[in-house]
Amino acid sequence: MLHPLITRLSRQILDGKPLSEEQGNLLAELENGHTTELLFAANAITRAMGHRPFTCSITNAKSGTCSQDCRFCAQSGHYNTGSPTHPLLPLQELIDRGLAMHEAGACCYSLVTSGLMLSSDEIDRIAACIEALKSRTSLQLSASLGLLNQDYAHRLTQAGLTRYHHNLETARSHFPSICTTHSYDEDIATIRLAKEHGLRICSGGILGLGESWAQRVELAATLAELDVDTVPLNFLSPIAGTPLQDSPLLSVHDALKSVALFRFMLPKANITIAGGRERVLGDYQSWLPLAGANGMMIGNYLTTRGRDLDADLKMLEQGTWI
Ligand code: SF4
Repeated sequence: MLHPLITRLSRQILDGKPLSEEQGNLLAELENGHTTELLFAANAITRAMGHRPFTCSITNAKSGTCSQDCRFCAQSGHYNTGSPTHPLLPLQELIDRGLAMHEAGACCYSLVTSGLMLSSDEIDRIAACIEALKSRTSLQLSASLGLLNQDYAHRLTQAGLTRYHHNLETARSHFPSICTTHSYDEDIATIRLAKEHGLRICSGGILGLGESWAQRVELAATLAELDVDTVPLNFLSPIAGTPLQDSPLLSVHDALKSVALFRFMLPKANITIAGGRERVLGDYQSWLPLAGANGMMIGNYLTTRGRDLDADLKMLEQGTWI
């Protein structure tokens, strides 16, 4: 039997009425003994909304030496992390990586670059890659290129880009503790601009940055208000050399409960799990669908290795994924 609050709020969602931030906080405040019920209910919402399992993949198209000081990030030029650095990869290599992920079974391929914003020449190269992959694969093409302006958004959509990824990383109220070199409003402006150009939005964050439960709900409420299509959730895997290197890992309980809360707050969005799932969840990764996730990133992440691709694909085939 479900806790009456979980039953009531699940019904509200299935009746088409989104939760308020206040209601999300009530769920977050439930005692741990009710977490399994929360997970079951989140899974029921995922199925009722008709979400299908999907996979996505990224390539680190440009790595490191970033001018920004995001305190979790191996690629920030402010910290000495020993993370690989390279300029934007040559066009053919970007294309070949996309073809390889298509071959491996990914549905979506995203080109990800470090830095606040690309140069005009770099946008040209990304656009050429998108055009080439669009003509040769059925991949949904996404990009995560930092801040956008009108001109960049126009050129990318003309090339065939259909999705734009731009994480908010954390709640507005926690952001100043995580990044001081650009503002939350700049990130929101880029998401709004991408939407204006008809791009589907992939935006989420990293859990385990020292945020409170209320701040997790706050981030979810902001993403719901922005009406994003897909929410990638990462779990902090602390990187040596960054200011957050000694942060504790999220517990399995907190990670799964967080995913369930995002499912309650964003019933219509795809929720995909990206970095940190192996380290934080270990053998409990197959619980992610139970918690309301319907997607996962396969292959490697930006600066950390993902789980063995065959193991991930086997998990999907075995039906643990919903
Ligand atoms: S998260 Fe992005 S903007 Fe922030 S330091 Fe890393 S690469 Fe730069």
